[in-house]
Amino acid sequence: MQKKCAIGIDLGGTNLRVAKVSPEGEIVTKITASTSEEVLGSVHKAIDSLFSDEIAGVGIGVAGLISRERRRVIISPNLHVVEKIDLVGEIAKRYGVPVVIENDANAAAYGEMWVGAGKDIQSFVLLTLGTGIGGGMVHGKKLLNVPAEIGHMSVSSDGEKCPCGNSGCLESYASARAILSRAVYHLEAGRESLLQMYYEGNFYKLTTEDIFKAALDGDNLARDLWKSAGRYLGVGIANMINLMGPDAVILTGGLTGAWDIYIQEAVKEASKRAFRELFERVKIIPSLLKDDAGLIGAAGIAFNILRTQAV
Ligand SMILES: [Zn+2]
Repeated sequence: MQKKCAIGIDLGGTNLRVAKVSPEGEIVTKITASTSEEVLGSVHKAIDSLFSDEIAGVGIGVAGLISRERRRVIISPNLHVVEKIDLVGEIAKRYGVPVVIENDANAAAYGEMWVGAGKDIQSFVLLTLGTGIGGGMVHGKKLLNVPAEIGHMSVSSDGEKCPCGNSGCLESYASARAILSRAVYHLEAGRESLLQMYYEGNFYKLTTEDIFKAALDGDNLARDLWKSAGRYLGVGIANMINLMGPDAVILTGGLTGAWDIYIQEAVKEASKRAFRELFERVKIIPSLLKDDAGLIGAAGIAFNILRTQAV
């Protein structure tokens, strides 16, 4: 059988998502499983269910710092166990195909460049806005092989300490984790809010969707939380615009659901801070592939490696 598909893997701290992807960047089959303690075993099990002679390579996206040759995870804050596993070596040995590993947000940027919102864009920055904040950069239709840890860009010189070792990181102010921890802080201090009634006061169960719903209902605390997070995001976006002068900033991840308040505030803030000439030419747009960008992108990077090796 002709080898024509690749497997893309999105290996997160909670979920493991695996897809068989066509050379045109379409998902043929997709499965989702939980990431168990025994990561390699769960990855093998998921690949087993999709593997056939038709598979030409495997690409894996993982949150964290990846070695420049895309073979090893150096640091993965939410999945430390993968730092000690030779994922690339083990999978290549078991299936006999080339395997590559990439940062999950970089993989998502590749996916958007290949068949998503960045398809016709020369240069863009992608930001994944979820529990944490990740980034990927495409310049001249090429994914830059750089860490692009935009979530750990300082947006406050004496700000909160971040587990990465830096302080004042964008992620500490504009991510879902940051919004939820500030919500809990204000609610515990007794601030009046619709959120006080949710989950009968068990604030730890709150989600960012709840906070968005409260904001739409006119709740002041909820609105303040989104606006503050949006302003910090705008600082980060302005920095990226000034640094790179991209044609677009593509935003993805669960927090983009709050576009009308959080992203709008970010755009407003970025417009005040970035060079006017650079801001005027940048489009700030949502991703097209959404949660599938990383899966498709990881497979796309595997195809790319195969092409390079064939030359
Ligand atoms: Zn940090």
